[in-house]
Amino acid sequence: MFKEIAKISSSDLSVASKELWSIMKSQIEYLDTKGREVIELAFIQMVEAHGEQRRKSGEFYITHPVAAATVLANMKLDSDTIAACLMHDVPEDTHVTLKQLEKDFNPNIIFLISGITKLSKIKYQGEERYAENLRKMFVAMSQDMRVIFIKLADRLHNLKTLKILPPEKAYRIALESLEIYAPIADRLGMSVLKSELEDAAFPYVYPQEYKQFLSLSSIEIEKRKKQVERILKKLKKILIQEDLKGYKVYGRAKKYYSLYKKVSSKHPSLTEINDLVAVRIITPQINDCYHVLSLIHSHFVPVDHKIKDYISYPKSNGYQSLHTTVKDDQTGLVFEVQIRTADMHEYAEYGMAAHWSYKSKKNAVSDQFINSESLKWMKELIDLGKQDLTPEDYLKHVRLDLFQDRIFVMTPKHDVINLPLGATPLDFAYKIHEHIGSQACMAKVNGHPVKLSDELKNGDIVEIVTDSKQKPKRDWLSWVKTAQASKHIRYTLRKQQKSENQ
Ligand code: MN
Repeated sequence: MFKEIAKISSSDLSVASKELWSIMKSQIEYLDTKGREVIELAFIQMVEAHGEQRRKSGEFYITHPVAAATVLANMKLDSDTIAACLMHDVPEDTHVTLKQLEKDFNPNIIFLISGITKLSKIKYQGEERYAENLRKMFVAMSQDMRVIFIKLADRLHNLKTLKILPPEKAYRIALESLEIYAPIADRLGMSVLKSELEDAAFPYVYPQEYKQFLSLSSIEIEKRKKQVERILKKLKKILIQEDLKGYKVYGRAKKYYSLYKKVSSKHPSLTEINDLVAVRIITPQINDCYHVLSLIHSHFVPVDHKIKDYISYPKSNGYQSLHTTVKDDQTGLVFEVQIRTADMHEYAEYGMAAHWSYKSKKNAVSDQFINSESLKWMKELIDLGKQDLTPEDYLKHVRLDLFQDRIFVMTPKHDVINLPLGATPLDFAYKIHEHIGSQACMAKVNGHPVKLSDELKNGDIVEIVTDSKQKPKRDWLSWVKTAQASKHIRYTLRKQQKSENQ
């Protein structure tokens, strides 16, 4: 859709706006009349407000909010979000105030615009200002998640139009997108948007690597595509033979940046990456997923230990699917198969955004995750903002926290505890309560005694044995991964030292 919008070249505002409206209109057919009317009104007011304003590229400014709004329409978001997105730069960049918009739009829309307006100053303008704005963003997100959807769509279009900026500025925006926005999209399970942000930022942050990678991978990907077409044919045949109806089968090419990250972090060669192109099977019901899995295994050879049941054990961002890696005996090709229902698929693509889609029926998966442990990271980032950290430290923690993968472990009562990857039983103890942390003397993982400094794994059931005579030791600082635990340990050590000195 960005390409179509970029083609609009008329120097006449009314012609350009007519063309833009016809694009916008074609994208919101899934909404009811009332929803479409709100969006049309927002469009008209937005055009009036921005008027002849131009972007640095020379295009009319109005192309930008429309482009961002089409991203959200693609995710089938509700009309309030799309209307707010159309007007997201109005209070900040035009003579029209938020107060004036209140006359014509409902409070939800006004809240969303004001949430974005507050964020619009989030740029690298010195660490202090930046940290402050990020704090605001996490608060706004926690009040209404749709604020961040608009921000991400806004950012995506800005990334796609970075070319016209001075290289230094383009680099900073792209880097910020890789460090902050893409990880947020990932946390929210919005995999499509996450990959688009990453792929748009990739060439600006790693120009050399991007060029190299592009020439290498395109050959390999082309080769794989042909192989996958053959596999798809085979799979369809199997489904027909088994008389399975209502199933969809298709291939999927891996995105550049995630592929680059995979190659550069684990050092496999491109040919060794089995999910370079994967195939997907969408089933009518959950039970069908397991049925199809066994069917796949009866036709292809499963590769050892590569079966993952993310249906019973969803990923921390709510992603659900069955994954298996299999080998086609005839061709020797090893490939990944992902099996899931249509609901799971929608959630896998749009994540949290699926929860706010125009449909009144809320997605069961997102319902479960929206209220759960998986969103606690956001609250933690808000809490972190209230602590007495320097802007530099705050940013460091935010980046670390967003970048690190999370693991989910359980208490003996099966309460789920969310920790960063690499966390130890000591982190777990402090997470439960600072007293449990400071008095921890031993841990059991899945019933077996382990060291307090051992690394926890996803799904571990962790039990902490405490002793009232126990005291935090200096060593402990190197055993913990969370800011929360090290803060408590430092605090107690300082207290101990003071009382010893007295
Ligand atoms: Mn904008």
